[in-house]
Amino acid sequence: MKFIEALKLKSKLFFLFVFITIGLIFVGIVGASYISAMKRNVDSLYFGSLVPVTELHEIVQTYYGGVSESLHKVSRGEISRLQTIQELEKSLLVIDQKWDSYSQHYKHTEEAAYIEYVDMELSSANRAFKRTLNFLQKGGNPEKIALNRVEEKVSHLHSVVKKLINYEVEVAQFERKKFLTKYEDIAFNIGLTLIFVIIAVLLITMYVFRSVQEDHTKLHSIAKKLKQVNKKLENASFTDSLTNLYNRRYFNLVYERELKRAKRSKTYITFMMLDIDFFKQYNDTYGHVEGDFALKSVAKVLKDTLKRPSDYIFRLGGEEFGVLLSETNETDSANLARSLCQAVKERELKHEESDAHEFVTISIGVVCCIADEALDDEVLISRADEMLYKAKEHGRDGYQITTDVSLMKVISA
Ligand code: GH3
Ligand code: MG
Ligand code: MG
Repeated sequence: MKFIEALKLKSKLFFLFVFITIGLIFVGIVGASYISAMKRNVDSLYFGSLVPVTELHEIVQTYYGGVSESLHKVSRGEISRLQTIQELEKSLLVIDQKWDSYSQHYKHTEEAAYIEYVDMELSSANRAFKRTLNFLQKGGNPEKIALNRVEEKVSHLHSVVKKLINYEVEVAQFERKKFLTKYEDIAFNIGLTLIFVIIAVLLITMYVFRSVQEDHTKLHSIAKKLKQVNKKLENASFTDSLTNLYNRRYFNLVYERELKRAKRSKTYITFMMLDIDFFKQYNDTYGHVEGDFALKSVAKVLKDTLKRPSDYIFRLGGEEFGVLLSETNETDSANLARSLCQAVKERELKHEESDAHEFVTISIGVVCCIADEALDDEVLISRADEMLYKAKEHGRDGYQITTDVSLMKVISA
């Protein structure tokens, strides 16, 4: 039963685990695909538009700053020819490199023709500037350089490249817009998937929680029933079925427990042994069924007379009963024994064959003492038995009591 319950719980938890895992994998896959799409968008925006724009700007700047300005300065004698040569060489190299780098980026088909045109324009201008460079290298007079032609060329190149820059900026704006729309879609879809997974996990958790709770309630009620059955069984094992009094087995338990308690607290303990007088004759005269009825009647009288919760009454076997009292002194014990004899007799169960009385009577052996550590565990039973024997000898239908619980007496007896 427990195993099956555990198995059920295990499979439920396993199901929950599998579901969450699948959900998370799904979110992971969707997220990853969106993120890679986003990366592509960022790349195309950054490397496809922004970087090229920067490079084109640098080309224009170099024409103005590196080429045109250095030629102006050398013609005015502000820098040396050598410095100009170096500046020109460096600038043309930078322009070539930037243009090469720009050409390698992703290009839309619609801009290909214009890029080819720009390439041609740059090449022809660069060839012209290289010729100027050769002129200077060969010792030509810087003043002879046609600065107005240089100015024209650079400004022409500027307007040519500017168009390309404008195109790239337009593309960048378009890509940015596309990216932002895509980003919003991605955020919405991931959010939606997460909400779905969270709701599903919540529902499954509620289901698992409820079924665990149900299982727990079932188990609880089964445990409760089991406890009740156990209690009944325990009671049955301690009860005499004929008289409903405690049986000998329970007597053994209670006797030991009560004796220990009395020894600890050094208080009175009383044990009585009761026996129905001439019960053999009763059975012989009235039969066993009547005999059983008489046993039940005597048991009821005992129960009705001894009402304190701490009073224990046992059927020790046959027509013998035991009574265990705590915190009852000798006088009270004797009075109780007398009341018991009287009460049984007053029940008026006819017993024609009894030599003691016309009704059923009992004899009682009583032992009463203040318990201490020196008190022997068996002495109460022996002394009560001894007193019972004495009561029988004294004509029955009565009690004999003693407070002497010394061991020597028992041994000698
Ligand atoms: P005494 O006064 O000396 O005690 O005489 P007695 O006849 O009672 O003594 P004895 O112990 O010899 O007889 C006990 C009888 O009790 C024997 C048996 O027939 C009867 N008895 C024991 N158990 C039961 C029982 O469960 N039902 C019935 N009906 N009789 C029982
Ligand atoms: Mg007997
Ligand atoms: Mg008897």
